[in-house]
Amino acid sequence: MIVVTDDKGISKIKESLSSSSASFKRISLYGKTVFLTWGDEIKAPQNAISVKGDGAPVLSTRSWKSDNTVVEVGGVPIGSNDVVIAAGPCAVESEEQFREVARGVARNGSAILRGGAFKPRTSPYSFQGLGVEGIRIMHDVSEELGVPIVTEIMDAETLRECRDMIDMVQIGSRNAQNFTLLQKVGRSGKPVLLKNGMGNTVNEWLNSSEYLLSEGNENVVLCYRGVKSFENSVRFSFDAGSLTRVKHLSHLPLAADPSHPAGDSDLVESIALAAVAAGADMLEIEVHPDPPSAKSDSAQQLTLEQFRITSERIQRLASALGRGVWKP
Ligand code: PEP
Ligand code: MN
Repeated sequence: MIVVTDDKGISKIKESLSSSSASFKRISLYGKTVFLTWGDEIKAPQNAISVKGDGAPVLSTRSWKSDNTVVEVGGVPIGSNDVVIAAGPCAVESEEQFREVARGVARNGSAILRGGAFKPRTSPYSFQGLGVEGIRIMHDVSEELGVPIVTEIMDAETLRECRDMIDMVQIGSRNAQNFTLLQKVGRSGKPVLLKNGMGNTVNEWLNSSEYLLSEGNENVVLCYRGVKSFENSVRFSFDAGSLTRVKHLSHLPLAADPSHPAGDSDLVESIALAAVAAGADMLEIEVHPDPPSAKSDSAQQLTLEQFRITSERIQRLASALGRGVWKP
């Protein structure tokens, strides 16, 4: 059961809890006090919002927070009127490679740098990323350019070791339902970019965000990256309808990754524009200085020149929609 209350209701809820055997947790979220209880139901005060918690998402939804949430990452507001672009390579391959791409994308509208250091590869024999060294490279270049970074973390140990070097933690599609990892990232309080699990429904994806929110982490951004379907002419199916549904259901900022569903650099720009039209507040785009030589996702990464053109078109569409693209 979830009970959201103002200050007046707190003592009433405490009373109900003291006379029941329910276990509970109290968190503060967006200026409200939230009690999460398990076991016996408790009596909620009259003006509190109380939900049984029967599998439907609550804390991520507009049913209790109607206004858009804005998440700040190193001074960049995600979820405001300006669309935020986060670009960079699929994987950090060397310091030179990351610095070159970071300089190029930052010059052309990327407010955040993306890069993978721990790569969740289907085969254990494929390039696995540079690990902590990759994150150190991202951190150094980020300091040099004054641009924050987002990178995927796959376990709690890496989170502990690298938390101070990362501005935003990415939870990848494959870990979208790793609930203990979500809880630990939730407790870290770090801004999180939460991908949808490639086999998950919108309801399951929002419930994953509840694992972060229910630890008191207010800095959650949802990132749609498409789903597996029967369609095999694209890498993943990118459903603009699901994206816009999430925008309606949730107050959380909404990002989209056009690169992984495309699987092909020729399709990335159109999917990026479709995402903005469907309400995305942020785009995460893969860019490589020399895509044919990339150690992962070679076919879908944009060249720096392709990114420059795509970024301009995103800017033009955003303006037509009465939005902007965030620039420092
Ligand atoms: C990524 O963005 O590097 C990535 C692996 O994406 P996903 O988890 O969506 O496959
Ligand atoms: Mn990739």
